Amino acid sequence: MKFYNKVALVTGGTSGIGYSVAERLMKEGAKVVIVGRNVEKGEKAIQKLKEIHSDVMYLSVDISNSNDVKKMVRKTVSSFGKLDVAFNNAGNAEGKPALTHEYSEDDFDKMMGVTIKGVWLCLKYEIQEMLKTGGGAIVNTSSLDALICSAGTTAYAAGKSGVIALTRAVAQEYGTYGIRVNALTPGAIRTPMIESKFQDLTIEQAKLLEDKYSNFNAAGRIGKPEEAAAAVIWLLSDEASYITGQNIIVDGGVSFIN
Ligand code: NAP
Repeated sequence: MKFYNKVALVTGGTSGIGYSVAERLMKEGAKVVIVGRNVEKGEKAIQKLKEIHSDVMYLSVDISNSNDVKKMVRKTVSSFGKLDVAFNNAGNAEGKPALTHEYSEDDFDKMMGVTIKGVWLCLKYEIQEMLKTGGGAIVNTSSLDALICSAGTTAYAAGKSGVIALTRAVAQEYGTYGIRVNALTPGAIRTPMIESKFQDLTIEQAKLLEDKYSNFNAAGRIGKPEEAAAAVIWLLSDEASYITGQNIIVDGGVSFIN
């Protein structure tokens, strides 16, 4: 029970990597708040998580909105008494992919709002609470797109690169206050975000895409959410007590062979 009596906040905890982390935190004894925009999705996730134990709550929050984020942290603390660990993981690939000269300013602002401002807002309000109790641990989700950039994803890639820089700077600021901050950089992980790329493809096209993701890495397959979650759980736990400002890449080896 690595997280017995700890209070955890997981943004983007209603599906994929975030859900998997919330599940592990609960199994290790934590009280958990999960966050996402879609209420129906949130309620479904909560129903399943309540089979583990009842100290879990869903909040409908858009992390790019500062009032939402302020309320999210306030509600976590008023319900469970404190905040010990946070996984700032919410993100999306919404908006029409396009080359820079055709990408809309509105899509750019929205992408930055979630990837950079959203993570910064979460850090700002979470750290205020962690300072009151003498420490905590935080993991922010970046993406392999930050390291191996591909055409048509400039805003996402820039935002996710920023998450790594944000992580390092904040880790430097709060190390002596007992707050550790690290980043997770996932490669292709089979979640609804990746599944959406297979939608509307023919069987042949889907097979080609699956092969592309798999052949691109040393493991020869797409990763599972629980494999990314395992790294996050370790970083959030006291076992990683001397690890801060790091970026842990969970990509089946893509980044070292490309
Ligand atoms: P996912 O299953 O689609 O989960 C995304 C989560 O984020 C959902 O809970 C979603 O809920 C929430 N979310 C999205 N935008 C939000 C917003 N503005 N405010 C609050 N919540 C929001 O996808 P995933 O793959 O687990 O993604 C988790 C993180 O990993 C993301 O940051 C993503 O960029 C990153 N990532 C994933 C992969 C991959 O291959 N899967 C690779 C690299 C990086 P709602 O839709 O209800 O808001």
